[in-house]
Amino acid sequence: MITRFAPSLTGYLHLGHVLHMHYVWGVAQKMGAKVLCRIEDHDLGRARPEYETGILETMEWLGFVPDFGITSATAAGPSDFRQSDCGKHYEAVLRHLRDRGLVYGCDCTRKQILERQSGQGELCYPGTCADKGLPLDGNTVRLRVPAGEIVFHDLNLGEQRQTPRVQCGDFSLRDRAGQWTYQFACVCDDIRHGVDLVVRGEDILLSTARQIQLLQLLGAPLPRYFHHPLLLDDAGKKLSKRQRSESIAELRAAGATPEQVMAQALSRESAAEPGHQLF
Ligand code: GLU
Repeated sequence: MITRFAPSLTGYLHLGHVLHMHYVWGVAQKMGAKVLCRIEDHDLGRARPEYETGILETMEWLGFVPDFGITSATAAGPSDFRQSDCGKHYEAVLRHLRDRGLVYGCDCTRKQILERQSGQGELCYPGTCADKGLPLDGNTVRLRVPAGEIVFHDLNLGEQRQTPRVQCGDFSLRDRAGQWTYQFACVCDDIRHGVDLVVRGEDILLSTARQIQLLQLLGAPLPRYFHHPLLLDDAGKKLSKRQRSESIAELRAAGATPEQVMAQALSRESAAEPGHQLF
């Protein structure tokens, strides 16, 4: 089995990542899976090279060593495990979806979509451009999300039911500036890298049925899923951005050892929702 640690390049590692790495490497060990490290820098507006270097150094300092993928020793030069280097793979998958009529171009602005929104909560795209025949280039590229409920078994949370068509509608694979989205790049990479075990935080739970639908449309096998609880504060609430943004590099600079950092991440976890059968 293969699982992955796939940090986004939006900042340095914080205690939430440490808990996440504890789960990724812990579940991998229990299930006999290898861990790959992939850099998810698809958000070109936010990604900065120093984040990648900082993340790889901190991982190694904490003792989380991937079996393959990007490490500080292999980080120089283009990599099949860094999303900004993988545009040609995503283009090939998009062409495949386009040739089967599964995507369309959309020129709606966020403001227009918001105006058409009826309820509260997550933005649901109502399919305004689905039959307009707009070109893909220069427009947002949206997937024709199939109707119907997706039911999957989460190794930690049990049976999950989600209906992407109702929750988010035709989600985007590439924005009008040509930037790939998380959902699309992640699925393309998981297929190409042979990932068959996905371990990630509950904050991304709603992405899972969307990714399952993409995997199904691409005829790919489905991985197994394990969504873990998030780091909570003393009052049992999800850590605020400010608290989370306390980087491990700062704790290290203040004299903390890797063991102390691990202890800090795991002690907060004891307040998190229990019930994971694998630990
Ligand atoms: N890059 C995502 C993050 O850092 C991880 C997504 C995933 O594990 O699917 O939150």
